[in-house]
Amino acid sequence: MAQATFHFPRGFLWGTATAAHQVEGNNTNNDWWAWEQNPGHIVHGQKSGLADDWWGGRWREDFDRAAEGAQNAHRMSVEWSRIQPTPDRWDESALDHYREIVRGLLERNMTPMVTLHHFTSPLWMTEMGGWENEAILDYFVPFVRKVVEALKEYCNLWVTINEPNVLATAAYAMGEFPPGRHDLGAALKVMVNMVKAHAQAYHAIHEEQPTARVGMAVNYRGFKPARPWFPLDRWIAGIQSSLFNDFFPEAASSGVMRFPLWRRHLPEAKGTQDFLGLNYYTRDYVAFDLRKAGQLFGRRFYLPGADLSDTGFIANAPQGMFEAIKWGLNYNLPIIITENGVEDADDDLRPRYLIQHLHQVWRAVNFNFPVKGYFHWTLVDNFEWERGWTQRFGLWELDVETQARRKRASAELYAGICRENGISSDLVAQYAPEIYDNMFPG
Ligand code: BGC
Repeated sequence: MAQATFHFPRGFLWGTATAAHQVEGNNTNNDWWAWEQNPGHIVHGQKSGLADDWWGGRWREDFDRAAEGAQNAHRMSVEWSRIQPTPDRWDESALDHYREIVRGLLERNMTPMVTLHHFTSPLWMTEMGGWENEAILDYFVPFVRKVVEALKEYCNLWVTINEPNVLATAAYAMGEFPPGRHDLGAALKVMVNMVKAHAQAYHAIHEEQPTARVGMAVNYRGFKPARPWFPLDRWIAGIQSSLFNDFFPEAASSGVMRFPLWRRHLPEAKGTQDFLGLNYYTRDYVAFDLRKAGQLFGRRFYLPGADLSDTGFIANAPQGMFEAIKWGLNYNLPIIITENGVEDADDDLRPRYLIQHLHQVWRAVNFNFPVKGYFHWTLVDNFEWERGWTQRFGLWELDVETQARRKRASAELYAGICRENGISSDLVAQYAPEIYDNMFPG
């Protein structure tokens, strides 16, 4: 059997990513908490509840797990509704709490990356219209300043908004996230406001901290024409890809926002990313279909026989990771994989998913594509939005009743990769023997 190690560059960031509402617990003052109280919104009526009890202090033990697993970085987010419980009040104790958490990363030799908005907004902001109301800028930007001022001693890697493309789609077009709308016009308005918010936040952060490195985290989804020979499939796959994938990074790069038959210039947005945050999970096939008006006439699906996750949410399509990175080169920025992972309670798919995706990252790095780090989603099982607790993305399993954590084999595997700064054939043989010959032919 051939033996080798796929090494990564020195200084590569290895971590996991988390988000406040998904791990903290008792975030009672935001739109998601309110949304969870209504039956029908979350699978089986599940709620975030205590989540992973990070606000109660369990971040410590989980950061220990990450550090023992040789991770040298962590991406987390702050909860706006804790820091600004009402429009006219900052909660300094919440800021102290976050200072302690971020310091906790440094104490464990992990580089912090902080996301300022990860899907949730304070209830008072939602009551004012949330992202649909341009007035959100008057609140979001001062909030960003406040956080940066409080944490800049410890952190200089910032994500302004997590997956603005998913938020706009899930909350305003598909009705799956609060406020549960099905309105493309509203989605476009929200997208414009998010570009403005990102741009203003970018400038505000640099004013507060000139050494800051700031980006967005965009969810890149592959859209493959189902029948590549059929022009309408190619056309609709192209439209879906450009709307979903390109809109935000393009606006932040060129200052131009493009929607079909619509375009607007926003010069203040030009050049407002220092790195491209790339979240990649999976890839769809798209067929032109007149019955799918809600999906812009493109029916999306996974191919029969795809290597699917537990609930069929994700197809293991590692080649899409390479394509995502190649696409990211368009923006001429360093690239950080800010999320990648799979829901897999039994951990029978995750080891090969992880290795195969990292292998593609390694390939990209060997083309000298500027990928600087990788954050696995996620450290410990957490509250997965409208899918509640039915999807388990953690390297560690969580017993929601008892808060007990149990290590999955993938945690060991990832630790081996982080420790080695590479993927060795020994690790592959041990954790995913089924792909060994493919990865190390000969
Ligand atoms: C989001 C995470 C989420 C993950 C898996 C990403 O779209 O940023 O918050 O948990 O997907 O569902």
